[in-house]
Amino acid sequence: MLKILKQLTKRGLQHIAANFGRHQHTGSDPELAILMYHRILPKQDNRAQLEEPGMMVTPETFTMHMQLLKQQFTIISLSQWIKQKNNGEKLPARCIAITFDDGWADNYEFAFPVLKKLAIPATIFLVSDMIGTTQQFWPERLAQLLASIATNRPDKWQLPALQWITGVKTSYTFSHRLPDQEQLSEIIAQIKKLTDEDVHTRINEIEEILQIKIETPPDLLNWQQMSEMCESGFIEAGSHTCHHIRLNNTQPENIQLAEIIQSKKQIEQHLAQPVTAFCYPNGNFSDYAIQQVTQHYDCAVTTKADWNTTKTNPYLLNRIGLHEDISADKTAFLARLSGWL
Ligand SMILES: [Zn+2]
Repeated sequence: MLKILKQLTKRGLQHIAANFGRHQHTGSDPELAILMYHRILPKQDNRAQLEEPGMMVTPETFTMHMQLLKQQFTIISLSQWIKQKNNGEKLPARCIAITFDDGWADNYEFAFPVLKKLAIPATIFLVSDMIGTTQQFWPERLAQLLASIATNRPDKWQLPALQWITGVKTSYTFSHRLPDQEQLSEIIAQIKKLTDEDVHTRINEIEEILQIKIETPPDLLNWQQMSEMCESGFIEAGSHTCHHIRLNNTQPENIQLAEIIQSKKQIEQHLAQPVTAFCYPNGNFSDYAIQQVTQHYDCAVTTKADWNTTKTNPYLLNRIGLHEDISADKTAFLARLSGWL
């Protein structure tokens, strides 16, 4: 009963937000909502099985989003909106910009055909040193490692898992069964307290102890796919650092600077187009990072969910994150666009 009530309340709130939210507002100052996607994957795709729900939207849902946006809003590329604003040109009242984080190969497979067909521009934020490699981000490495241990080496499962988790508290108790997707998200959230380097080292150690080597096909885009998308005129590249390093205060300044500058250089060399937009990995930024990004880029995006106006700091732009479980139908999607839910 409580569950039904909760569902009804949620649905009611969604209807209110969908009909009266920020996206329906017509103020005098032009507004921009920047949408943040990560992966576009069919439910049955192998790559979707071990991925966090908060990272994915299905191709069907993505198509529905794009069609609805086209009907109701002006869709503009992020760099174009910033350029027009900086030049003092008139901007439409309510614009939407589409962005993708990390540079997943599935963006080329499942998002690009939809964007091209509907003539919708988008920005893909690339992790420049990982493009065209088989390297993986640690949440995906971790999910695959846990799956591999549970299937292949249940006898040796507990020891390294406990070592791993030392100092990282979650409700998941290690056993021979895999964490479900919710538990996986919780483990990942807790492990984010460690540095990226530390997490990779720990995964390497467990792989070594258990003599497990996980081989996966490349998950990320390569430069050729990226070039083809850029040449279409619909896709532009932004920087998401060289190694997806979180730019917080614990990171030495020289490393932060290299990640900010080198990634821009590498992408520009490969794609022969200017890179003017930056995306802070994990939404983390130090004062130093903002200062350096301000010197080398025209704008930068965060993960704070809200709309932007011409008065929003262009180096701390808000974005509305989209994933399947909160945007699979039109009402839920519009409610998300409201910036309220
Ligand atoms: Zn990222």
